[in-house]
Amino acid sequence: FSRLAAGLRRSSSGIAESVTAVFTKKKLDAATLEELEDALIAADLGANTAMRVTERLAKDRFDKEVTDEEVKEALAETIAETLTPLEAPLDIGASVKPEVVLFVGVNGSGKTTTLGKIAARLKAEGRSCLLVAGDTFRAAAVEQIAVWGERSGLPVEKRDLGADSAGLAYDAVQRARRESLDAVLIDTAGRLQNRTELMDELRKIVRVLAKLDETAPHRVILVLDGTVGSNALSQAEAFLEAARVTGLIMTKLDGTAKGGALVQVAEKFALPIHAIGIGEGIDDLQPFNANAFARAIAG
Ligand code: GDP
Repeated sequence: FSRLAAGLRRSSSGIAESVTAVFTKKKLDAATLEELEDALIAADLGANTAMRVTERLAKDRFDKEVTDEEVKEALAETIAETLTPLEAPLDIGASVKPEVVLFVGVNGSGKTTTLGKIAARLKAEGRSCLLVAGDTFRAAAVEQIAVWGERSGLPVEKRDLGADSAGLAYDAVQRARRESLDAVLIDTAGRLQNRTELMDELRKIVRVLAKLDETAPHRVILVLDGTVGSNALSQAEAFLEAARVTGLIMTKLDGTAKGGALVQVAEKFALPIHAIGIGEGIDDLQPFNANAFARAIAG
């Protein structure tokens, strides 16, 4: 837990600092409220959350002196209120077998790493899974999945570069059925620069999987990079168009990310948040805890 707090505290220093800059024993008047709202929007929290924070403060503190601590408290409470209903710990392979999980997101977002971390966790919990190198476009992506499989002693389904990813996913699910595995974790391509082609490819994977089992894919997890700020919003929009995204994971919250965008994306699309990535290592994926996240963001 302390690592999560430290990581997020570091990552959220942008917000904490701007709140402190606006409020150091200042009277809460219209101008300071506006300044605060701007600072929160600049921290990628979104206009809605920014407005709720200022309204919350204005309600009983208007024209009174407030400290930055009180402002941070209001911020943390507002964020926790928004995100608590979206807390969604992952329990892959508990209800359906094999549970088919698609990981989507732009290249570099941390999709493959997150898939690897989840696979390792499942294995440690005694659940079996098949890793599928569904980004058949990049040799490095296929290689990375193979490495994660080896590291965790888990089977990997892969094809030659350029192979049809939908066919690969289909075969992988059939193999998982034959071998009575608990889950199938499918990596996908993420070349957003070729958006139409990418989205068509994702739609095809979804369509083909549904032929095997109309409830598949059972989950579509969107992986977002915590350092891209509000760009995460347009990424989410793009992937929601192509697949029925069922939940979010935000990575790289250990770095210089502000993390505020997670609030904006989750709120806008009402998407459950499963976990956050706080490092590159196998254990650096934490179940999402709204309260801890909100406290860390507020600084
Ligand atoms: P993909 O292209 O979406 O599959 O992204 P990768 O899984 O290859 O990740 C891109 C880079 O981000 C790699 O160098 C990962 O090690 C790194 N990465 C992934 N998750 C995290 C995280 O939570 N924190 C940090 N610091 N790095 C991460």
